Amino acid sequence: MSESEALVVLRRSFDGSLIFPGDDGFEDARKPWNLSIEQRPAAVARPAHLDDLRRLLGAARDAGLTVAVQPRGHGAGGDLEGAVLVRMDRFDELAVDHRAHVVRVGAGVQWGRVVDALEGSGWAAPSGSSPVVSVAGYTLGGGHSWLSRTAGLGSDNLRAAWVLRVDGTHERIDDDSDPEAMWALRGAGGIVGIVTALEIDLVPTPALWGASLTFDAADTAAAIRAVRDLSASAPQTLNVFMNSMRMPDAPQLPAEIRGKSFLTVQALSSAGDAGAHLAGVRAVGARLGDTSGPTSPATLVAQSTEPTEPTAGRGASIALGNLDDAAIEAVAEFRQRPEQWPIIGIEFRMLGGALGTPRRAGFARLESANWLVYALAPLFPGSPAAAGDASLTGFREVFPPGAVQRTVPTFLGPGQTLDLAGSAADIDRLRATRRRLDPDGVLHEGRLPRR
Ligand SMILES: Cc1cc2nc3c(=O)[nH]c(=O)nc-3n(C[C@H](O)[C@H](O)[C@H](O)COP(=O)(O)OP(=O)(O)OC[C@H]3O[C@@H](n4cnc5c(N)ncnc54)[C@H](O)[C@@H]3O)c2cc1C
Repeated sequence: MSESEALVVLRRSFDGSLIFPGDDGFEDARKPWNLSIEQRPAAVARPAHLDDLRRLLGAARDAGLTVAVQPRGHGAGGDLEGAVLVRMDRFDELAVDHRAHVVRVGAGVQWGRVVDALEGSGWAAPSGSSPVVSVAGYTLGGGHSWLSRTAGLGSDNLRAAWVLRVDGTHERIDDDSDPEAMWALRGAGGIVGIVTALEIDLVPTPALWGASLTFDAADTAAAIRAVRDLSASAPQTLNVFMNSMRMPDAPQLPAEIRGKSFLTVQALSSAGDAGAHLAGVRAVGARLGDTSGPTSPATLVAQSTEPTEPTAGRGASIALGNLDDAAIEAVAEFRQRPEQWPIIGIEFRMLGGALGTPRRAGFARLESANWLVYALAPLFPGSPAAAGDASLTGFREVFPPGAVQRTVPTFLGPGQTLDLAGSAADIDRLRATRRRLDPDGVLHEGRLPRR
């Protein structure tokens, strides 16, 4: 049976939606969240239930197609030629078990819903900075959050997963029933099977406290140095992000930030007021803004400046072993170069703490790195992509190759593969797991390096 025949036959028995190129809605349905990435799947499926998924796997196997699960496509790589793209939004269960300190989340649920469900409970889930990223895509790629120094990566908090295997069996797996599959699920995405729901540990957050300091761009190097020095003594309960911002002179931006450059330092403590730890940072100089006080996960989401609608943009991420004075000077100098205008933000996330001693075995790890650095170059309508790409290349060259460590898969860019996040032995181990669980390669290999 040809590819298209197999899918047309499948559509007759499909309760969800299954659309093909040329069908109404296909052009929108195929797009990933990052609109600068082109992906051209053979079909887009929105299964209504488990049996739809089983039929889809069967038809794909018969026709020699691959199945690529992509809840939202924030992490899209653009290589879906000949694959059936699966959107999981109908798998929308959400159940909090306060006694067992776990939340069970369907594969189509986005973080914002989980944050709202836990608000006021004194417990939080290890969600990332965006409310519209899916819990599944984030957790299966590692996931670095505001609570990572306190509780580890999102994937370290993955207690169990409900998985539809390519042979049609659906089961709950955990570290006792299939430790090798759990190791792969914690960072290597969808090579184990189609995940229908996840069970994720809740993190105790009885006294969340946050601070936000804004410095003039002239203090960039001094403020980064002060936060770097703080990292040597910061308790595991304190998480710190810095962002060197250079806003374009764009009329759609508020007057107070339009065309301005500044550095923000944001701290989140899960153990109450951590102001004493920030004394050295405040001593750097006058702040353009300085607020602190009790906060909550929903407040952090509301204050986040992450876009909540699909946008076009480019980004580049690097995990660093150390942030020495030479690297800090190099970043500050890079921020002043006029040709680097397409990069509006360079974010530094302090690592360490619980990330140094993961509670569970998983492919995704950030043990060897102390800083996660991310540069963002949005594509404004009409602006050329080439300038952004050149800036991101320049950004990568700021740091000497010896300083770069393995990163977390959720921070990989389009076209980047898992060998940037794991060793050659780790990649071999993933391939062995894939051969065992999906010998015919029905599931799209995602970010596994092609041989
Ligand atoms: C604005 C923004 C903010 C972000 N903030 C953070 C952050 O703070 N921390 C962080 O770590 N990352 C962050 N990210 C990156 C994000 O976590 C990744 O892009 C991740 O891939 C989640 O995106 P998604 O939900 O769209 O998943 P997708 O990109 O759609 O899917 C990612 C991969 O997960 C696997 N997968 C997903 N669901 C299933 C399933 N049900 N079964 C099997 N496999 C599955 C597949 O391999 C798939 O290719 C951010 C991204 C954006 C755009």
